Amino acid sequence: MDLKARFARLIAATGPISVAQFMAESNARYYDRRDPLGSAGDFTTAPEISQVFGELIGLWLADLWDRAGRPARVHYVELGPGRGTLARDALRAAQRFGLTPQIHFVEASSALRSVQRDLVGDAVWHDDPGSLPDDAPLLIVANEFLDALPVRQMVRTAAGWRERMVGIDGERLVPIAGPRPMDAAVPPLLADAGEGAIIETCPAAAAVVDDLARRIAAQGGAALIIDYGRTAMAHGSSLQALRAHRKVDPFAYPGRADLTAHVDFSVLPAVAQAAGARWMGTVEQGAFLIALGLGARVDALCRAAPGEAPAIRAAAQRLAAPQAMGTLFKVMGLAAPDWPLGAGF
Ligand code: SAH
Repeated sequence: MDLKARFARLIAATGPISVAQFMAESNARYYDRRDPLGSAGDFTTAPEISQVFGELIGLWLADLWDRAGRPARVHYVELGPGRGTLARDALRAAQRFGLTPQIHFVEASSALRSVQRDLVGDAVWHDDPGSLPDDAPLLIVANEFLDALPVRQMVRTAAGWRERMVGIDGERLVPIAGPRPMDAAVPPLLADAGEGAIIETCPAAAAVVDDLARRIAAQGGAALIIDYGRTAMAHGSSLQALRAHRKVDPFAYPGRADLTAHVDFSVLPAVAQAAGARWMGTVEQGAFLIALGLGARVDALCRAAPGEAPAIRAAAQRLAAPQAMGTLFKVMGLAAPDWPLGAGF
């Protein structure tokens, strides 16, 4: 049954559902049976734009692993690996420096698991981070994973803060204010705002970062978390839906459009530190890639394939330029307390 019809029936029977439930169920349905990436899909991502993205991440991991004393047993963990392109490029680059970890993918989508199996082959798949190995250091990468996790929203009404929910208006699903007072759940810094103001939090992202940070603090290793988002607390909904590379009403196509929200990088370092990990910093993607040698790698690729040079350079621009992905996307680095700091921070 169409998810929109199912939501409409549920809401008619039991009342509005939270934005968080709406987003969680919509994305579970959305990802499960399709490969949404690329020009034929709904959106594209950095590893699909240029091989240099994954290669530089692989070199970052290999450098850190080398300076951590080259532990023989180590796991590469990727959350939401998409088509497996980042893993393939990163592990190819890392291998040249002697890093050949076991591969673990945290992936909910059965369709994407099969694409990943074709590209990378020898991996272990996990439904969530709960079953990751606990016997050796983890080298963790998550690109555009946290943005897919459900956000909770609060909206300011004349009667105070309420949970933002999804109700029905005729045939349409629409955002509305829930019935219960939520003033106690609002961060004091943001509580004072005019009617209609929205506050967005992502408890699921905080839970994932807490879990990963605990693991690397206990086992050794590091994590690179890359996504679009903000580094200061702010009001407003960042919920957006992409369908065939166009923004559409986030409530109009549940399960048939990619729903994402900006990652709130302002809260994640404290979550990771409280779990025992070391925060390397959070930097803009463009600056990070340039610091890791984007220019030199692009020059080398252009020399090897002069006919492709304009396309290779345009793709690198897209990853690093401020008006493209260079400043909106952030890179947060975490490490075990006794591991070295990574390059680029
Ligand atoms: N990292 C990839 C893909 C990003 S799309 C890239 O950069 O191209 C988001 C990825 O996260 C997809 O692989 C999707 O199936 C996965 N995903 C989304 N929500 C998930 C969840 N709750 N649990 C596990 N995987 C999830």
